[in-house]
Order: sequence, then C-alpha cells, then structure tokens
Amino acid sequence: MSKEENTQHHEIVIVGGGAAGISVAASLLSRDASLKLTIVEPSDKHYYQAAFTLVGADAFDPLKTVRDERRCIPAGVNWVQGTVEQLHPEENALTLSPVDADGPVKLSYDYLVVCPGLSLKWDAIDGLEATIGKNGVCSNYQREYALYTRECLNSVTSGKLVFTQPPMPIKCAGAPQKIMYLTGNALERKGMLDQFDLAFHTATPALFGVADFVPSLMTYIDRYRVDLNLTSNLVAIDGASQKATFRQGDKDLIQDFEVIHVVPPQAAPAFIANSPCADDSGWLDVDHFTLQSNTHDNVFGLGDVISAPNAKTAAAVRKQVPVVCENLLARMHGREFSAGYDGYGACPLTVEHGKVVLAEFGYGGKLLPSFPVDNTRPSKMAWVLKRHMMPYIYWDLMLKGREWLAGAQPLEQARQ
Ligand SMILES: Cc1cc2nc3c(=O)[nH]c(=O)nc-3n(C[C@H](O)[C@H](O)[C@H](O)COP(=O)(O)OP(=O)(O)OC[C@H]3O[C@@H](n4cnc5c(N)ncnc54)[C@H](O)[C@@H]3O)c2cc1C
Repeated sequence: MSKEENTQHHEIVIVGGGAAGISVAASLLSRDASLKLTIVEPSDKHYYQAAFTLVGADAFDPLKTVRDERRCIPAGVNWVQGTVEQLHPEENALTLSPVDADGPVKLSYDYLVVCPGLSLKWDAIDGLEATIGKNGVCSNYQREYALYTRECLNSVTSGKLVFTQPPMPIKCAGAPQKIMYLTGNALERKGMLDQFDLAFHTATPALFGVADFVPSLMTYIDRYRVDLNLTSNLVAIDGASQKATFRQGDKDLIQDFEVIHVVPPQAAPAFIANSPCADDSGWLDVDHFTLQSNTHDNVFGLGDVISAPNAKTAAAVRKQVPVVCENLLARMHGREFSAGYDGYGACPLTVEHGKVVLAEFGYGGKLLPSFPVDNTRPSKMAWVLKRHMMPYIYWDLMLKGREWLAGAQPLEQARQ
C-alpha cells in the first residue's frame, strides 16, 4: 500500500496523551461535544508524575500514581496507539509508528495540538544508563527509579547522600531539591541526621530560579546541614565504585556517595526538534500568550514541550488547557483570539513532612499566589494541597475537563 493510500484524515489530532493531551481533549469536548478528536499516544499507562517525589520519600502510595491510559481517554475520543515519528505541518500531516502494526502510518488533520512532553536524557551523563536503578543510584524522574529511591533512602544507615540538578530547562525545577529536604527531615525525625552528610550539586547559579523563594529554602539548607554547590554539573557516574564527577568551571570534582539522587538533563523530543515547528533550541515554537504555533497557524502546543519560559509543571498545563481550547475554537470559527496564558506555573517545594513552600509564579518570576497568603513561606495548608488535594484535582478535575480555578484569562490581561 502506498503512503498516500494509507493516509487517514482527522479533524483535530492531539500528539501525546499525558497530563496535557488528556486534559485538553476533555476540555475541548466540554465546550463542544461534536468535535472529532484523535489522540496519538504509545503508552498504555498514564502516570501522575507530580507524586513521584512523595513516592521516593515513602509518603505516597505508588499504586495511586498510575492508571490505564484507556481509562483516562475521554469517551468518544479516538485513540491511535503509536509514536509520532515526524511532523509534516506544510502538508497538515504526521507520520507515526503504531504499536500493533508494521511500518509507519500517515495521518492528516485540520488542526494539530502538540503535547508530547519532553525527553529525559539519561545518556547525557557518562555511565548513568548502566547504573541507574542499582548501586545506590536513583531518580524520582521515572516511576521505577522513584521506587528505588524509596528503597535506598529507607535502607541507608550512614554516609554521603548526594542530590543533583542538571542545567535548565527541566520539568518541575524544584523536584531535584524536594527529595533532599524530605530526606533531611526524615533523618532528623529519626535522630539520624548526624550520621549523614548531605550535598546538593546544581548546574544553576542559584538555588531556585525565582529569588523570592530562596531565603525560605536556605533555612532548610542550613537546618539539614546541606553542602550546597552551585554551578556544579554532574558529568559522569561510576556506580560500581560509587563515585560521581562534577564539572565546576574548568575543574572536575570527584565525590563519593552512598546514595545519589540524579536528575537527568532534559530536551525536546527529537521529532519536534527536527521539525519545522521547532525554535532554535528544539522546543515547539509557540506564541507565549496565545499558545499558537509561530510557524503554522492551525497548530497549537502546551505542556513541557513548548518554547515558553514558564515553569514546566502540570500546574502550568492546568492553566494552559483553557487557553488552547478557547483559541483553537476561535481559529476554527474565524474569531479573534481572546484567551491568554500569563506563564503561571507552580512548584510545591516539600521542605519537610507536613510543610510546603508553594512557589507559584508567572513569566519573569512574577508571584501569582492562588490564595491571599505569603506563598514564599512554608505552610501546612500547602502540604495538604500537595499531598491530599492535588491527586484528586489531577485525576478527577483536570483530566475530566473540569477547570476548577483555571479559567482562561483575557489575552490583554495575560500580556501585562
Ligand atoms: C519527579 C517529578 C515531580 C514533579 N512534580 C510536579 C509537581 O509537584 N507539580 C506539578 O505541577 N508538576 C510536577 N511535575 C511535572 C509534570 O508531571 C509535567 O510538567 C507534566 O506531566 C507535563 O505534561 P505533558 O502532557 O506536557 O507531558 P507528560 O505528562 O509527560 O505526557 C507526555 C505524553 O506524550 C507521550 N509521547 C511522548 N512522545 C510521543 C510521541 N513521539 N508520540 C506520541 N506521544 C508521545 C508520552 O508517552 C506521554 O504520555 C513533576 C514531574 C516529575 C518527573
């Protein structure tokens, strides 16, 4: 069969059925149930990644972080189980590899929503792929390795605990240090903190990207006696001998560890970076306020893949969804865009069991607290929100198209 004969046409195709893809499908249907939607997603599992930190810290049931993808896809949405290999936006088409068929299939579309998340580059750190998941080398960035984080931190009795953060951008920029605070706090509560040396190595020049939150975080760095190393980038790891190499300027520092929590460098998926829709850094090039592609006007994007300089979080997705829905429908019906995204993202920094610094901010680091409180300080309420309410908000509101506290704001207001 030729490629042309194999092409199937769809009204709206959504690439990726993660946090953004499922939410945008549900929210589109809640606006117009007659829309014909297709989601392309290879995985038969859907993960609630925001709880992986708590899984690693033994504070959340891992079974509650995963559901069958089939159960998450809204009724009436067509699911093509496959991996998108190439975008052909000039032909309004894409090529994908279905999981259950030989050879590629071509889909054409009227409108495209792009949200395949980002790629974790385990191979960008020398030796990491060979040792992750053993030798005390763990990571909350993938579910099975978060389970190993839990195992390592529950069984270690003394020694050096090292936590790393790669260069930006990464998803949930607070996650590399959240697990460190929870570990320090667990050891403190068990009276074992004196038996350990904690170290944080981040490739960034500051502990956190928005300066307002740094003083609160520094009190915990001091309290857990963390050796803080800025501009220190993990470049190699030798699991068998439990040694990690950090590049600091033009010098290399070799550090022993008992347990090391590694966050891999992150990048746009290759099929996006290699497409005509990418910006110079490989991310999906979108207007930061309307979320329409800057290169193809029937294409929209949201989630971790986009070029906008917001915090890459599910919280950001929650606010982006109504904007994409409103503007996509406006584009379909020939109306002006009215909805805008102000760069909102949220990073709940779990500084101790029972307290969170809920860093909520938009473009340029503008503080955007959802509640009228000083969100630069740790709070018990924010822990309740993160630990107990967010899973419900994720699974039962966001993924079902219920936009609680997330309505789109006017475009002009978002631009201010
Ligand atoms: C450890 C950790 C802690 C976090 N903590 C928080 C937090 O506290 N708060 C918060 O708000 N966010 C948090 N996040 C971030 C949050 O999970 C992401 O920002 C969010 O999932 C992004 O949604 P997305 O749909 O863009 O990507 P994803 O949810 O990752 O979904 C992308 C989907 O696209 C699919 N896909 C990939 N490639 C292709 C392809 N070629 N073709 C078709 N489909 C494809 C994938 O299989 C996946 O299902 C955390 C993440 C991690 C890892």
